[in-house]
Amino acid sequence: MKTIGLLGGMSWESTSNYYKYINQGVKDALGGLHSAKIVMKSVDFAPIAELQQANEWSTMANMLTQDAQDIERAGADFILICTNTMHLIFEEVQAGVGIPLIHIADPTGEQLKRDGKRKVGLLGTQFTMSESFYKDRLKNKFDIEVIVPDEEDQNVIHDVIYNELCVGIIQPESKQAYVEIIAKLQAQGAEAVILGCTEIALLVNENDTDIPLFDTAILHAGSAVSASLT
Ligand code: GLU
Repeated sequence: MKTIGLLGGMSWESTSNYYKYINQGVKDALGGLHSAKIVMKSVDFAPIAELQQANEWSTMANMLTQDAQDIERAGADFILICTNTMHLIFEEVQAGVGIPLIHIADPTGEQLKRDGKRKVGLLGTQFTMSESFYKDRLKNKFDIEVIVPDEEDQNVIHDVIYNELCVGIIQPESKQAYVEIIAKLQAQGAEAVILGCTEIALLVNENDTDIPLFDTAILHAGSAVSASLT
C-alpha cells in the first residue's frame, strides 16, 4: 500500500472528511482491520484565508510548497491538496516536489465523463467559479462545458463557504439559497452540478435536488484510495 500525503484542508472541516473518506475507502477495499497509510499536514486556515482575499497567490504558493516538501520528506508517495481553491497554485506546488500531486479536477472530470455529462454547473469559492484554472482544465482535458452562477449568486455561495461551512455552521436558509442557485443552473442546461468546494457537501446533498451532484472531496479521496492500492 502506498502512503497518501494530505495537505489540508484548508479548513479542518474538509481535512477531517478526507481522512474519514480515505480510511473508509481502504477499509471497504481490503476489509478487516485495514486502514490507510497517511501523512497529513494540516494548516492554520485563518492567515491563508486572509492571503486569499488579498490575492497573494505567490506567497501562498511558497507556503504550500514548503508544506508539500514536508509531506514528501515524511514519506508520502503522492499528495492531495484537500481544497479546490488552492489548485489555483497547483503547478507551482507540483514543481516544488519530486512526487506527484493528484489534481482535484481530474477524478471529477473522469467521473463526469464516465457518466456522460457534457455541460455542468460549478459551485465553489469566488476564485474557483470566476478564475479560469478549474473550468479550463475540465474543458481542455475532458471536453466538459462548465457554467457558473451570476455574480450575485456567486457572492452568496462564497460567503456561506467562508462564514458558515468552514467554521462548521449549517443553516437551513443557506441550504435553501444553494438549492435555488442549483435549480437556476439546471434551468440553464446543466446536466449535473460539481460541488467544487470541499465543504459544500456539509450543506447540500442529492436528497435536496433532482440533479446529480458531484462531490469533489469524495471523488478526490476516492482517487487517493485507488492510487494507494495500485
Ligand atoms: N475548501 C474550499 C475549496 O474546496 C475553500 C476554502 C479553502 O481554500 O480551503 O475550495
